[in-house]
Amino acid sequence: MENPHPSSRSMRTIFNLPHSWGMSLLSGLASLLFPPLCLSCSGDLANGKGVLCLRCERAINERNHQGIINGVPFYTRLTYGLEISQLVLLAKEENNRTARNYLACSLARALSDSGEEIGARIILVPAPSTRAATRVRGFEHCLLLARSMRSELADIFRSEWRAGVDIAIVQPLKVTRALQDQSLLNPAQRMANLQGAYRFNENFRALLEGAGVRHGGGAARRPYLVLVDDVMTSGATMGEGIRALRGAGFEPDMAILACVSPRLISQ
Ligand SMILES: [Zn+2]
Repeated sequence: MENPHPSSRSMRTIFNLPHSWGMSLLSGLASLLFPPLCLSCSGDLANGKGVLCLRCERAINERNHQGIINGVPFYTRLTYGLEISQLVLLAKEENNRTARNYLACSLARALSDSGEEIGARIILVPAPSTRAATRVRGFEHCLLLARSMRSELADIFRSEWRAGVDIAIVQPLKVTRALQDQSLLNPAQRMANLQGAYRFNENFRALLEGAGVRHGGGAARRPYLVLVDDVMTSGATMGEGIRALRGAGFEPDMAILACVSPRLISQ
């Protein structure tokens, strides 16, 4: 059969390059013209290993931390600071996937490194967003973060020969009223702003009970209930999530945060 596009054949003949080579040539040229910048400070990425420059990587200094919030153990790998706040804003307000993936990788690693006996089933419960925030953003920030975390977690478990671990995302928490922007409030005001603001959605009771969340016993025999949120600075949001779940009779096993204020960390 004759080539219906003789011009494209002659182009190939001139350059004599496979298609993939042409593409990598183009992307190489693009990175020369537009060198990739650090996701946090927009500085030169030179010497940085991933999406951050060396300075931001050092400032962020990712490693395992833990503490207790309202009787529930929490784990994180990032402490809250300027560099991380930039990544959180990008993911939250600009729907930036690279920033979200960075935070999700960190969330997944915090859970897998927690040392807790997790068993074969995990239920991730993302912190709820207000209806107003979801309307303005067009997406639910913590839900997308939890989805991305689940995919990273599945990769980690596969690499550890634990591919059978079942990871579900359930959203039984709802925000019942309009909330003020937490970032504009002091710790006492944050507590008052959030107090009683979350409600357990009874539509999820049968699902959680059916999965055996309330049956007690070792974690190997029931799903591990994990609260997930991006930032914990005063603990007000996470405290409210724990209160709402407990009020409905479900005790969270742990909380996983993308980043936590250093003063809340015990190790
Ligand atoms: Zn940087």
